[in-house]
Amino acid sequence: KVSIFWFRRDLRLVDNHGLSEALKGEYPVLPLFIFDRAILDDLEDKKDRRVQFIHEQIHTIKKELETYGSSLYVRYGTVEEVWSKVLESYEVQEVYTNRDYEPYAKDRDAMVSEFLQSEGITFKDFKDQCIFERDEILKDDGDPYMVFTPYSRKWKTKLEEQGGFPTYPVQGEGGNWFHTSSLAIPSLEDMGFEACEEPDFPANYIYRDLIETYDKTRDYPGQHGTTHLGVHLRFGTMSIRSLARAAKELNGTFLNELIWRDFYMMILHHFPKVVNENFNSKYDKIPWRNNEEEFEKWKEGKTGYPIVDAGMRELNTTGYMHNRVRMITASFLTKHLLIDWRWGEAYFASKLLDYDLSANNGGWQWAASTGTDAQPYFRIFNPYSQTDKFDKDKTYIKKWVPEFETEDYPEPMVDHKEARERCLAVFKDVLG
Ligand code: FAD
Repeated sequence: KVSIFWFRRDLRLVDNHGLSEALKGEYPVLPLFIFDRAILDDLEDKKDRRVQFIHEQIHTIKKELETYGSSLYVRYGTVEEVWSKVLESYEVQEVYTNRDYEPYAKDRDAMVSEFLQSEGITFKDFKDQCIFERDEILKDDGDPYMVFTPYSRKWKTKLEEQGGFPTYPVQGEGGNWFHTSSLAIPSLEDMGFEACEEPDFPANYIYRDLIETYDKTRDYPGQHGTTHLGVHLRFGTMSIRSLARAAKELNGTFLNELIWRDFYMMILHHFPKVVNENFNSKYDKIPWRNNEEEFEKWKEGKTGYPIVDAGMRELNTTGYMHNRVRMITASFLTKHLLIDWRWGEAYFASKLLDYDLSANNGGWQWAASTGTDAQPYFRIFNPYSQTDKFDKDKTYIKKWVPEFETEDYPEPMVDHKEARERCLAVFKDVLG
């Protein structure tokens, strides 16, 4: 008899809520990870840094579990197939996992929990991936917040009320693990993927000095002024509670960014329509131009605007883009080129190592002015003045667009002033 702990985006053996609870249970715990075909088979690029990242973490976790006499059960397949296999192989009594708020994950978990319960197996899920979830922070009238600042105030009050951030210890040695010989992990090739030559994953480490000065450095893409921890929060290789604890102690601006993360997860939970639709339906009639050639130039970093091109090339080369530049490139696509934010969102989703549906959707709808608490439509980033403010000595531009002052560099694909006026006219027209 065993209980299963199902890893998803919580790939760590420290401070893990669901796993900590599983180990307190009656039955020895066997951890499970599913390489889900429904997700992987849709990825077009078979050299995907994220799949490689997960694969590496899975190996690390398995190695550690083997020092406790246990292992990790890993399969590639659909969720239905793998769960049927698990139930054939083990006498499962309970299943523990941490909650995920994306629409696909919610449907999957509802389906699996129903199936398990029909087999007489208990399914227990826990909050782990954010500080406050779902209905924990609501307006006084019981509705969800749609504006960040009052949400963040309530978030901070609630944190004080509960006395800070809890920790969920995971007992390694001597814990209630299911003992087994080593289990095999499918290789990347077994799943149709290839390793990237230089995946260049950011360190999983809290740089306290960096967080301390975050408010002064975070806007300058030419400096190493942000943590690059996005991917670790995305896949749970770092506990959000340990990072938020450091944030609260060291820097209010940084804590606010982590609250934005909770905010967008809450928005996605309450308003799943945002995945395909404008949060604010008053913008539904925008006649996006959606010019495919222009979209290609933007993707390739050949717009003739050095700061935009630098961002896109950083993304294409590394799977990362600095936040300030995410805002500039997203604004350029939606406002200067009048290309639907959904196109840009999908492109970022295919490339970002830290891709997260809630934050990406939130960021794109913010830039396009269609979202909660969005940038007003008449605020259109001027790529030149953004450069003067945030990349004054052009360190960032020189790194990614070294040819920007030569004849090889293209002319701007649209004139800033004309594009700005065209955009204002379109938005004004829609608003009537
Ligand atoms: P830091 O500045 O060091 O911040 C630490 C962490 O706080 C981040 O890793 C992230 O988890 C969280 N965070 C910071 N800013 C935000 C924010 N505005 N909204 C939500 N969470 C935030 N963030 C993602 O995690 N995944 C995405 O797919 C994503 N897409 C974006 C798309 C657009 C168009 C925009 C404007 C922003 C997007 N962001 C996204 C938010 C932000 O740009 C990244 O979180 C940040 O740049 C990641 O770098 P970092 O880890 O160095 O962050």
